[in-house]
Amino acid sequence: MKVAVYTGPREPFRIEERPTPTPGPDEVLVRIGRCGICATDVSTWTGDAGMETNKVYGHEFAGEVVARGDRVRGMPIGALVTAQCVTACGRCEECARGHLCFCPEWKQHPTGGFGQYMTLPEREAYVLPPPLTLEDGALVEPLAVGLRGVKLADVGAGDRVLVLGAGPIGLCAAYWAKRRGAAQVVVVAPSDRRRSFALAMGADAFVLNASGPSDVANATEARIRDALGGPPDLVFECAGFPGAVMQAMNAIRAKGTIVCMGYGLHPETIQTGVPLFKELCVRFSMTYDRSDYQEVIATLAAGHLEPRCMITKTIPLEALTATIEGLVARAPECKVMVDPWA
Ligand SMILES: [Zn+2]
Ligand SMILES: [Zn+2]
Repeated sequence: MKVAVYTGPREPFRIEERPTPTPGPDEVLVRIGRCGICATDVSTWTGDAGMETNKVYGHEFAGEVVARGDRVRGMPIGALVTAQCVTACGRCEECARGHLCFCPEWKQHPTGGFGQYMTLPEREAYVLPPPLTLEDGALVEPLAVGLRGVKLADVGAGDRVLVLGAGPIGLCAAYWAKRRGAAQVVVVAPSDRRRSFALAMGADAFVLNASGPSDVANATEARIRDALGGPPDLVFECAGFPGAVMQAMNAIRAKGTIVCMGYGLHPETIQTGVPLFKELCVRFSMTYDRSDYQEVIATLAAGHLEPRCMITKTIPLEALTATIEGLVARAPECKVMVDPWA
């Protein structure tokens, strides 16, 4: 099978032939159909994420079951499946609730979605019912990230919600906040190129933060209040740039909740008097559990397929290096999918 191997910071991915893996007794072999490129794949490639070299990454994958181990009973050949971003022991309490990233023995999948095949334990595979496609399946992971953040914020009817950042995670947060009853959802980002995506994902308004991060503190903050009809009750920080958390603290109403989902790689300075004076609740959210995955799949399968709008491009493995280079340089893409068979 063909795979794209991460060889080191800003080095080209090595396209390599490897033996197709054989599923263990409790595993299925999955022919990968699509794998989304995530911001963490970008920071893996730049070296900022400090990830191991000589590995095949890609954690937003979906594929078709093409072979089964002897003990597999529930997963038919031909089923379309996806799975969480890591694999885990299957025996501990966290595994019991399907929160695999918190399993003490979690590890990366032996081969990720930037390759043609991977093996998955049957217990970790989620079947994608009709009418879901492999592209929909590859969107389940980022949608589950967004859903978990929205659940932790306890979004309720009538809430005014601000989303900082319009990358796929910010867009997913807007989608779920609206679906879960928020009265007004406003997405703010420093470039207009995501306006149409934000509106298509359910946001009521998009506010351009054109003059840079510090602008949120003055002119943009006033426009956000206008668009929301008051200061936000909840803020999803999905930007991850230095200063974003402080911006959220300045913008939000007293006793509001901020959920940080941006993958910040740099130290963040917080003037603690602001959250203290407002008695803010600040939470962090990264992954998801089984119930989040199930809810995402059920919601998409019920026909709420707006997230498809995020897919702007599909590329072969050979184009991975150039595409990620482009994403570093802020190419006008939203969610790029890899088709390892293209
Ligand atoms: Zn991701
Ligand atoms: Zn475990």
